[in-house]
Amino acid sequence: MCGIVGYVGKRRATDICVAGLRRLEYRGYDSAGVAVIGPDGQLKLTRVVGKLDNLDKELSANPLEGGLGIGHTRWATHGKPSVQNSHPHLSCDGRIAVVHNGIIENYQELRAELEAEGHVFRSQTDTEVMSHLVEKYYQQSEGKAADLRAAVVEAVHRLRGAFAFGIIAADSPGQLVAVRRRSPLVVGIGEGENYIASDMPAIRSETDRVYVIDDDEVALITEDSIELTDLNLQPITKDVYVIPWPADAAGKGEHKHFMHKEIHEQPDAIYACLAGRLTSPDEPVKLEGLNLTEDEIKRIRKVVFTACGTAYHSGVVGRFVMEKLAKIPSEADLAPELRSRSPIVLEDTLVIAVTQSGETMDTLLALRDMREKGAKVISVVNVVDSTIARESDGVVYIQAGPEIGVASTKAYTLQILTIELIALYFAEVRGAAPAEELRAMKEALLACPQHAEELLKREDSIIAIARKYYDLRRDQWAKHGVVIDNGDQRAAEKGWWSTTFRRDAMRPNSLYLARGVNLASAMEGALKLKEISYIHAEGYSAGEMKHGPIALVEPSLFTVAIAVDGEVKDQMVANIMEIKARSGPVIAVATDGDTQIESTGVDPNASPEDVASQPNDMIWIPRCPELVSPILVAIPLQLLAYHMADLRGEHIDQPRNLAKTVTVE
Ligand code: GLU
Repeated sequence: MCGIVGYVGKRRATDICVAGLRRLEYRGYDSAGVAVIGPDGQLKLTRVVGKLDNLDKELSANPLEGGLGIGHTRWATHGKPSVQNSHPHLSCDGRIAVVHNGIIENYQELRAELEAEGHVFRSQTDTEVMSHLVEKYYQQSEGKAADLRAAVVEAVHRLRGAFAFGIIAADSPGQLVAVRRRSPLVVGIGEGENYIASDMPAIRSETDRVYVIDDDEVALITEDSIELTDLNLQPITKDVYVIPWPADAAGKGEHKHFMHKEIHEQPDAIYACLAGRLTSPDEPVKLEGLNLTEDEIKRIRKVVFTACGTAYHSGVVGRFVMEKLAKIPSEADLAPELRSRSPIVLEDTLVIAVTQSGETMDTLLALRDMREKGAKVISVVNVVDSTIARESDGVVYIQAGPEIGVASTKAYTLQILTIELIALYFAEVRGAAPAEELRAMKEALLACPQHAEELLKREDSIIAIARKYYDLRRDQWAKHGVVIDNGDQRAAEKGWWSTTFRRDAMRPNSLYLARGVNLASAMEGALKLKEISYIHAEGYSAGEMKHGPIALVEPSLFTVAIAVDGEVKDQMVANIMEIKARSGPVIAVATDGDTQIESTGVDPNASPEDVASQPNDMIWIPRCPELVSPILVAIPLQLLAYHMADLRGEHIDQPRNLAKTVTVE
């Protein structure tokens, strides 16, 4: 989730590691550390809580000499940020050091096994099982030195989950072993020195030649050799990848913006969120940290979701899913509204507070109020050990990794996923839904990483739609012979509009419509579009259309209609007809294989100029149960907002007037 840098060569390893980690600082982290093998053959460790400056200070006071080392910036998922929990983690004898990005799903059973064998753990992390596992398998056989790579491979065979590891051992001098599954890892190729890193920017200033390591590939690296093998130690050959961007490019990889990067991280992030919680459709959901007994869960009489902004929309999905699956009366309330309403809290009310940062002031204050009134509060949070996580009775982390873009993307899909896991868990404990229904839900959630990947492959079709609509009104003026853009001479000469006014005047308007569980998708789709592209967007219940918003429908207002398969699809079809009948262009979100929607409302007799004569623009999503669809629908709508904003040239990662974490009321 966060940063790994490793070095083997003649220079001081800590210099390269810390400089590399600095280039990943933008991602956010809570603690940092390095381990090196010194000239005396001993393994030495320095770890700090907080910024790399703290690590630098420690290292200036007590430098660690040695040309073999690994460094890490941690973004806690298991165990709060502390020196004990920061990486590298050591074996019992302190002669093996491990840095890790990701989540080891089965760490609890492995930890129990290793403890029974006498291993002593010093942290609460999932990572530490790896240092002890490698220690277990790292033994000298007669006359032969212990083989670090063989031990790592044996250990990896025991792991489930997502990981990138860098590992060194005092008894294997000059060797750095790296391996990955689902978490990124590259090996940098130098001269008389080599590197590993979780992300290319970390080592780009040292080299532009890397091997991009794939799942279940292992690298054994010395200062003048790199051996790549699979997990059976069979050699692998791989092309050298030459990094095409210069050394000073920001750490967005091949992405133009962090938001785009984070949208693309969703398949892996969804996988990481499911890790250890839902492993098969036939297993019950496991949720650590919830801190509710089965008895307490059975007694819950009401669930209140509370949150702000995007997180609130996940609560809007939550209230629906909680009622459908767990059969508990539920509502979703904006945090500041919940406070100002000062609601009556009945006995056995459970509040679920949702926030990415865990620091959102309005949500925190609502949480405190509700606790004071006797409600139990659990939170769904990304940042481990944040204020809201600490002040809740229980917490379920969404495990999204750091989110940099101000507009929330992966945190939103993971909030929904986490809430759906909680609802499933409650449904199981309360025996509230038929087993087949729960099984189908689980199957669909397990398919989400794959479906998310499929949706990202369809990005080109979203770009085509964005191109068609991002400047809709200007295009319409053009049909009347008026060319309007920032370079339009005629308008400028006539002094019609100032540049700024022209740009603002030429934004299209939009309406996002849905019903049922996807009402949240309409609200979130509209929020995404307005916050980064400044195109006015309204998210509305389609059932409300006739009671007001239909008055807005005209050719320069496009409607995104979410009409995926499910209970409300036919009603959505009717809404699309009504919009088309008023010459409103429609972008329909529908399920793969739907043969109806594209032509819904199309009037073959309308003039070719009239949008009513044209088919609807289509966004397709893979088939899935309606309750799971908000996770999938979110992804193309994020892409649509992103590409419209990008085409309009807006500052996507830092939209005007917005802050990532809102710590004021
Ligand atoms: N799961 C590990 C931990 O909590 C690794 C976190 C990371 O990727 O930074 O320590």
